[in-house]
Amino acid sequence: MSAEKSIEIVRDKQNPDRLLMMLLAAKGGYVSGEEISRRFGVSRSAVWKQINRLREIGYEIESSTRLGYRISKSSDLMLPEEIWSKSKLSFLGDRIYYYSTIDSTNTQAKKLGQQGVPHGTLVIADEQTGGKGRMGRSWLSPAREGIWISAILKPQLMPFDAPKLTILTAVAAAEAIRDKIGILAEIKWPNDILIEGKKVCGILTEMSAELDAVNFVVIGIGINVNNDFFPEEIRDKAISLKMAAGEMVSRADVTAGLLERLEYSYNVSMSQGFEPVFEKWRKLCRNLGKPVEIVAGRRIIEGIALNIDEQGALMIKKNNGEIERVLSGEVSLKYEK
Ligand code: ATP
Repeated sequence: MSAEKSIEIVRDKQNPDRLLMMLLAAKGGYVSGEEISRRFGVSRSAVWKQINRLREIGYEIESSTRLGYRISKSSDLMLPEEIWSKSKLSFLGDRIYYYSTIDSTNTQAKKLGQQGVPHGTLVIADEQTGGKGRMGRSWLSPAREGIWISAILKPQLMPFDAPKLTILTAVAAAEAIRDKIGILAEIKWPNDILIEGKKVCGILTEMSAELDAVNFVVIGIGINVNNDFFPEEIRDKAISLKMAAGEMVSRADVTAGLLERLEYSYNVSMSQGFEPVFEKWRKLCRNLGKPVEIVAGRRIIEGIALNIDEQGALMIKKNNGEIERVLSGEVSLKYEK
């Protein structure tokens, strides 16, 4: 990928690549060339030119003088139109910044957040060269193997409530994975989704805030989808949807489902509070009721994970009987005994 020229596309849902939307809506069926030129008021040769432009970015398009054009194979790029044509969303993804390769979608989303892009804007990349985990760790994001996406949200929340969005996103990701491959993914507090005890998805929530108000929150989501193998360092603790399901999984399908789940949970939480989402989270979390060890800087907190409280903090019953609230910030749930 790195040898190829990087593609950057910025598009609003009201103003998509209409030809691509039309072809995608036909779901592999033919769209007549005449209809296309009529609809867009352009000549047949202009249509031909646009078709070739789509071919250049990897779409296989069959043409027949009698029937017109049909997509015989999608490009496998996570283009905005791929997401829009597969999902029903009211605000999330109204604007999408697509990059074939970028350092980090979260870094780019933070830049865009500072520039004042609309609530719900998404940054999607097919590859991250410097994908980020928490606390300066890195997130491996090879080209076209996973979903590397960041959402810029502007919720009416106090800064200390932002971790609730990580909880909400974890629920949406676990549900989207279950919807697509039928496997129950579990949440490891605070920000990972596991299958068979291995990490399939990580979430990185970052925020820009004043003392008493959130300017914007960036929620980064990385999902391993079609990876066949992982490098030595993470081989034992990483898994992809393909490894779990035993077959290739469409990244655009999973993304569409994830975004629908995310938007729905976000709307519910903003109108009714976070309790309905927390309720789902408690069922999906693998740590509750179990012994855990939390590393918070030099401190180690050992005990039983009891619950999450109304701010998304983990309540731990320590071995001495005391209950301690642990906020998700700079801590790791090191191991689960
Ligand atoms: P831990 O993995 O110790 O629970 P964490 O949940 O805080 O820590 P994150 O910051 O979410 O970890 O993710 C970064 C870590 O995840 C990296 O240090 C690496 O071990 C692992 N990792 C990196 N890339 C991937 C990937 N694509 N899939 C699964 N795990 C990965």
